[in-house]
Amino acid sequence: MRVEIASTWLELVDGDITAQEVACVVNAANSRLAGGGGVDGAIHRAAGPTLMEETRRRYPEGCPTGSAVISSAGELAAEYVIHAVGPVWNGGQSGEAEQLAAAYRRALELAHEQACASIALPALSTGAYGYPVDLAARVALGTSIDFVSEHSLPSLVRFVLFGGGAYGAFAAALEELIAARQDY
Ligand code: ADP
Repeated sequence: MRVEIASTWLELVDGDITAQEVACVVNAANSRLAGGGGVDGAIHRAAGPTLMEETRRRYPEGCPTGSAVISSAGELAAEYVIHAVGPVWNGGQSGEAEQLAAAYRRALELAHEQACASIALPALSTGAYGYPVDLAARVALGTSIDFVSEHSLPSLVRFVLFGGGAYGAFAAALEELIAARQDY
């Protein structure tokens, strides 16, 4: 699914984030940037050990929840990896939505600062961190739509969804958000 918003294509695909040919890829990192399973494991495996060496050297303190940091991309096709830290789901009353939106916003800002034309993002927090994917989809897409409405780059924002109904949840949320925009 693909929609045009201002000067950006917002795209949803079912697939593996490490296989995307884009300027930057977003990693679902933890706040220690310590490496893990899921997206993080796949990105570090595909990028090779230089990725961890660089993040350890440049960001020894890690990265707070609701923010992101940038590194080069090792052997990935992308130029940069943006390590974004989403919240652990704790029932929804602990500021999770604000933190998830802030992580996506910072990731998009970093891509914009590096003049990246294209970015691939995963469904942050919806794996090990337990964020319900239908709720996460609204936050992820709403934040991205707001960002691209105000910035001309990236001109391609691609969500790469992986199994477990994530694509369906994102597609339903995107249809709702687009319909709501057309109402005003
Ligand atoms: P978190 O710890 O932020 O929840 P995870 O990596 O555990 O992050 O999961 C985030 C989402 O990414 C989940 O929906 C998971 O299914 C998905 N995912 C796992 N591997 C990949 C991959 N290679 N490409 C894209 N998405 C992936």
